[in-house]
Amino acid sequence: MRYVSTRGAGPVTLDEAIVAGIAGDGGLFVPESLPEFADADFDSADSIQAVAKVLFEPFFGGSTLAGDLDAVLAETFHFDIPTTPLAGGDWSLLELYHGPTAAFKDVGAGFLAACLSRLEGDVERPLTILVATSGDTGGAVAAAFNERPGMRVVVLFPAGRVSARQEHQLTCWGDNVLSLRVDGAFDDCQRLVKAALAEKELSERYRFSSANSINIGRLLPQSTYYAHASLAYYRATGEKPGFVVPTGNLGNALACIMAREMGLPIGPVVLATNANRTIADYLETLKWLPRPSVQTLASAMDVGDPSNMERLRGLLGEAEILRERLGVMAVDDAHIEAEIRLAFAEFGFAICPHTATASHTVRQMDAGTRAANHWILAATAHPAKFETIVEPLIGEAVPLPAELTEILSRPSRAVDVQPTLEALTQSMQHYF
Ligand SMILES: *Cc1c(COP(=O)(O)O)cnc(C)c1O
Repeated sequence: MRYVSTRGAGPVTLDEAIVAGIAGDGGLFVPESLPEFADADFDSADSIQAVAKVLFEPFFGGSTLAGDLDAVLAETFHFDIPTTPLAGGDWSLLELYHGPTAAFKDVGAGFLAACLSRLEGDVERPLTILVATSGDTGGAVAAAFNERPGMRVVVLFPAGRVSARQEHQLTCWGDNVLSLRVDGAFDDCQRLVKAALAEKELSERYRFSSANSINIGRLLPQSTYYAHASLAYYRATGEKPGFVVPTGNLGNALACIMAREMGLPIGPVVLATNANRTIADYLETLKWLPRPSVQTLASAMDVGDPSNMERLRGLLGEAEILRERLGVMAVDDAHIEAEIRLAFAEFGFAICPHTATASHTVRQMDAGTRAANHWILAATAHPAKFETIVEPLIGEAVPLPAELTEILSRPSRAVDVQPTLEALTQSMQHYF
């Protein structure tokens, strides 16, 4: 399999696409063509790892990682991703939150770490991943690269602007992870990462790289859980389930759409966004109008210019086609809050604000559409990560899952820095 840029450059191998992250012409890497599968191809594949093995064989063709595929998948899918029926049984929850940091980004970060450490890890001259984060991404990336030989991570997060539990997830790792609490906003963290990457001498000395969400190595593995969940439902019932996916930068939803394009038994796909309406407006008005993001309760989806739209348009087409192939609904904060309460009363357990956009979307469907399919909601994070939002709404504490208990019991350490390149360089010199 070869990979090309959405803007034409390439083709390159999987290894080159993963190492480069973004294509030389500024576009995003996509497979030159998607493989097609028949249900029978998965006949002897039951576990998620076995499904992933069938799915990934073609994607790893021509990669130096081909011989490591089993090990890469074992490192990525080392936790369960169950599908749980919800009250009444006509819908269910795809629980993507059992990884080390209790959010679906653990899958993409884990796979990227497994690939990148094999491709570029060097104990003499470690590769240094720089990651600016406003919360979820930094934790998943730090956890994935934690204690991997030949790899280092520098996490930059804005002081006082992440929740206490989020901060702990960013600061509780081994010696190869340096957590910097930046006296500034998320934009300052991002600016620092860009400035560091642009400094040639510094960049060569530390072998800087990024684990950006647009890396194809974070996108591809996410198709696996849609393949696995849809096959299980299809085998049991003979019907294709529909999926509702909470959407921000469109990575998770794109992986679901790719699985459907590859022939997996997936029915309708509906995107649920928060009040950042860029995608919903595009399908409604046919005009692509990216804009600054607005802050919402589903903060990991606060994206006003989803970069994966470039991949989606390349894969399916422009708005006229997209509106026929996809559903979309934008859910504002008031409805997110109401849904968290309603879901708790109906299901008997809490859901996170991101997952609530999906659940509200199913409730808003007309009766015919809702009844025509079994709807599987992608539950993107554990509610205990967003306890300051969820607990006041449901009036009780959300029990901590084992993975978060483990993380919160680790000692935390962070270095306070000013938002300057000099401060960043000094702490790297001191700690690495
Ligand atoms: C990142 C994230 C999302 C959005 O996923 P995209 O791939 O950016 O669309 C949704 N929910 C949670 C909890 C996230 O961390």
